[in-house]
Amino acid sequence: LSANLNGRVAVITGASSGIGEATARQLASRGASVALIARRADKLEALAAEITAAGGTALVIVADVTDADAISRAAATVEKELGTTSILFNNAGIMLPAPMQEHAVDQWKHQIDLNVTALVTTIGAFVDQLVVSAAKGGPSDLINTSSIAGQNIFPNFSVYSATKAFVTHLTTTLRVELGAQGVRVGSIAPGLVKTELAGHVTDAGVSDWIAGADDSITLLNAEDIAEIITFTVSLPAHVNLQHIAVLPTGQP
Ligand code: NDP
Repeated sequence: LSANLNGRVAVITGASSGIGEATARQLASRGASVALIARRADKLEALAAEITAAGGTALVIVADVTDADAISRAAATVEKELGTTSILFNNAGIMLPAPMQEHAVDQWKHQIDLNVTALVTTIGAFVDQLVVSAAKGGPSDLINTSSIAGQNIFPNFSVYSATKAFVTHLTTTLRVELGAQGVRVGSIAPGLVKTELAGHVTDAGVSDWIAGADDSITLLNAEDIAEIITFTVSLPAHVNLQHIAVLPTGQP
């Protein structure tokens, strides 16, 4: 394991809360320069101030990842301000499960636009930098946030689960292509993590199911995932974790 991440430039989408925020904090504490991407400027500024006060380097980029032009500009800004990206934690996402017969068309589209289309757009914006970074001889990492819902079955999760199955399979396939150029590609598939994610769910049945799990088992927290991401990017450059499934011990 590398003792530190000094000199590495890490881009984190969804850095304003939950898994992304915790991961940005941990990567920065290990010496990486971090670019924080999300829509809520106040949350990003607060995190950047905290990282800077601790002696780290953080760049705030307020952007909606579903805006392809904004993400393209973000990639140029990172390169100019921090240097070539060597870690992309492609993590922004939304979970809006509901029975199909609720016809929540806007929620289907929202999940596909963000979890699928924007995830690919973001890879496209940063892939050249990741390849350049690998060509310089150091480790270079793309990690996509999937979900255990991409492989296990949860009632009423069909559209969300399908977006995450997409993430997992895209990762597996892209790994072969980018691995040949020295870029490690992996996905992380968490079970239930205590974050803001469940707060966006509008379906009462799904909300009750999540609340019931929260009452009966100890959920993962965002820091648990951040530690795994930090471990993953700290491995020697020839070691590529392709897929990590991590569940709360008590989650079936
Ligand atoms: P949060 O809701 O806490 O974080 C989601 C992040 O995504 C926020 O920073 C949010 O920031 C950002 N985001 C949402 N929409 C956009 C957008 N259009 N453009 C830019 N950023 C956006 O939830 P988590 O930390 O739990 O979620 C992170 C990832 O983990 C997601 O992909 C989720 O599907 C996945 N996951 C979560 C699990 C859990 O149980 N919590 C389990 C398995 C996977 P902002 O609103 O400021 O834009």
